[in-house]
Amino acid sequence: MPAQSTPIVLREDSAYHSFCGLTCVGWLYQKIKDSFFLVLGTHTCAHLLQNVLGVMVFARPRFGVALMEEADLSRPQPDLSHLIAEIKTDHHPSVIFLLSSCTPEVMKVEFEGLASRLSTPELPVLFVPASGLDYTFSQAEDSVLQALLPFCPQAPAEDKRIVFLGSVNDMIADEFTAEAEQLGLPVGGFLPASHFTALPAIGPGTVVAPLQPYLAKVANRLARERGATVLASLFPFGPDGTRAFWEDLAALFGKQVDLQDREAAAWERLAEHTTLLRGKKVFFTADNLMELPLARFLRNAGSEIVECSSPYINRRFHARELAALEGVPIVEQPNFDRQLRDIAKYKPDLVISTMGTTNPLLGQGVVAKWSTEFAFMPIHGWTGVATLAGMFTQSLKRHSHLAALDDPVWTAGFMPSVG
Ligand code: SF4
Repeated sequence: MPAQSTPIVLREDSAYHSFCGLTCVGWLYQKIKDSFFLVLGTHTCAHLLQNVLGVMVFARPRFGVALMEEADLSRPQPDLSHLIAEIKTDHHPSVIFLLSSCTPEVMKVEFEGLASRLSTPELPVLFVPASGLDYTFSQAEDSVLQALLPFCPQAPAEDKRIVFLGSVNDMIADEFTAEAEQLGLPVGGFLPASHFTALPAIGPGTVVAPLQPYLAKVANRLARERGATVLASLFPFGPDGTRAFWEDLAALFGKQVDLQDREAAAWERLAEHTTLLRGKKVFFTADNLMELPLARFLRNAGSEIVECSSPYINRRFHARELAALEGVPIVEQPNFDRQLRDIAKYKPDLVISTMGTTNPLLGQGVVAKWSTEFAFMPIHGWTGVATLAGMFTQSLKRHSHLAALDDPVWTAGFMPSVG
């Protein structure tokens, strides 16, 4: 990998339109199969979970909302003991995550104390800050993993194994385990594991391999508190990222691996997609903290990245992705009004935007895609490359089949500010 300088990151410190952290429940309750997620929230939170996760009540999902009513606002600490007992009887979880939400956070409910009072050695109740007050929704997974950290056994220093960091579905996890075995790299497990009772041991010999770009805080804690080595590479998205990820990981175990042919074959299989992506102008407005690796993949697929904005950029954790994006305008916490003006000016072929802003953009005739979807899809590793590429090309293809909009939703100039 040639040495590259880090590109300039502009910071606009502006409000933008992201999704609520409670949505992490959607992928984490499925991943951690002996868990229960309990949100202390309002009807708004319940409505969000019901609609976004689309799970029927009779499916007895392993998540729920302890509803706060107006009368609760005067109580310093809610009593959740009866609910915990009910969850225990009905679901027999090994762990309960107690998630905060906007209202109790503003009310300054003391969640740490509340969770520790409800905890027993047999059934820990772990506090997770996961409200709409975070930078963005995907960071809630970081908070869940930090809550799990004390329950990961301490590994001895001589135990040098990989712990993959980040929630991926079981099929992708199996692929990463098999790939590591094929390369002769020892695997210690995944954080999160598919069961609370199977958390990986972590210690000074552990090599933490981050699979998701939104886990900077927990990665930092693993290095600081357990002395683990955190892999500094590209994230395993796309043929380019996957190759760098495995080659760099192998190098930490003293193995020289050349996956050039593997990468070339993967690009070859994507030819139908890259033909469509080549030369297309793509604009990321900032949402899920996955923007840097997604933009890097698109750029290597031949697209032009007009702007890559992200709610938060960690100069160390994202160093390799930043270096790979040299020359691309990168903005942290962008100003959405300014972005709207730039979208009008540069007329990108595709805008990757939040759930709240994508539909208004579509209404204006802009080809736009929900960035939220990337957090829910199996886009990692060699197996995920086609899904990843298809997520971008689907939007372009769909748009090419639509008749031109002759009656845009907004008519004043290009578009007004979306407040
Ligand atoms: Fe809305 Fe806040 Fe509840 Fe999220 S936590 S659903 S942002 S009220």
